Amino acid sequence: MLYTNSGTYQKLTYMKERNKKPVFRAVLRCFMGIILLGSLSSCKENPETFVIHSPIYPTSSNDVTFTCNKISGTVENVKLYVMVSNINSAGTISASVPESLAQEWSSSPTLPVSWTKSGGYGSNKIVKYRFVVTGNGKTYTHSVTFATRPYPVADMPAPVYCVGDQDKVMNVVFIPDTDITDVMDSFYNAVRKDISDAFHKEQWVRRFRRSHNFYINPATGHAHDYDTEPGGHEKPSNWSNLSFAQGKVILHERSIRDFSGSGVYSTEYFNRGTILHESGHGLYGMADEYQGGSHWQADDCPNTFTSLANAQSYAPSVGLTSADANKIGTDNFWELCNDSCMMEQTGLNVWPYYAPCRSRILFSILQRAQGN
Ligand SMILES: [Zn+2]
Repeated sequence: MLYTNSGTYQKLTYMKERNKKPVFRAVLRCFMGIILLGSLSSCKENPETFVIHSPIYPTSSNDVTFTCNKISGTVENVKLYVMVSNINSAGTISASVPESLAQEWSSSPTLPVSWTKSGGYGSNKIVKYRFVVTGNGKTYTHSVTFATRPYPVADMPAPVYCVGDQDKVMNVVFIPDTDITDVMDSFYNAVRKDISDAFHKEQWVRRFRRSHNFYINPATGHAHDYDTEPGGHEKPSNWSNLSFAQGKVILHERSIRDFSGSGVYSTEYFNRGTILHESGHGLYGMADEYQGGSHWQADDCPNTFTSLANAQSYAPSVGLTSADANKIGTDNFWELCNDSCMMEQTGLNVWPYYAPCRSRILFSILQRAQGN
């Protein structure tokens, strides 16, 4: 569950050099494939999009901008609907303004498209917006709910990007560290970027963007350096209210050795790779894949193995072969993932989870969908 900043950066640099040729060839093959496909046909594809609002946790008077981004496919029409409700200190929601069409983009708009609500939504509000995207004869809906700041329910985390039933999806609570001095620019912006540039950027997790709710905690915590500040992370005062969340992550400013333990994990607020790596532990129960990290063999969908034979026999179930099994440095554990897997990497950049990790993530999300 550990991570050494310097070690990983060194390895990352080394990997880039080592992989240069194969990556170039793969990109070339892909590029040639795209040219070939393009020359053969120009058929429409189902649209794949994701949506976000900014600021992620607006005050009562902040302008709020809603954006629909395209990942791929053909987009012919986009509609944005907004519904605003009241919420009181007991958390009771009452309808104030019925859902209405805020904006429509017709005639195959070029994405991203955005619409801004000037002047904000007022105090003690819950805003639910729906982007309805049509293309290639298909219609997809993204529904997102967020609260305006301050959230009136005492000691409870505010929903800032909620998409599903809290009992059936992954819930992640962002906790500001006491060391973040500029909460508005550093912490709130970091939460928005972690949603859009980490969870919605990694290709596998992005497929399950309707299975992750995000919240902001009102109380601070304090992340410790694993090497120099023993005793684990300092939890927020409302810790007992966070049991609903599978992921509790402290975003901090200092450069420290991050770790996951006792139900809470940490990352520098600007590291999109670290938050996905630590979420790999905290949300999906995966082990480290680098030498010197924490390894174990999970009962279901493991990503590290206690023997070479175990790794080899598991390989076909995730589309790999026994030749993919490799020892984790000098540690007495084995893996099937490659060196660019997110559980091998941390830091600024997002890396794709490899096949065994994708299998474990799917398993974890299905467990939640079944209420486990
Ligand atoms: Zn780790």
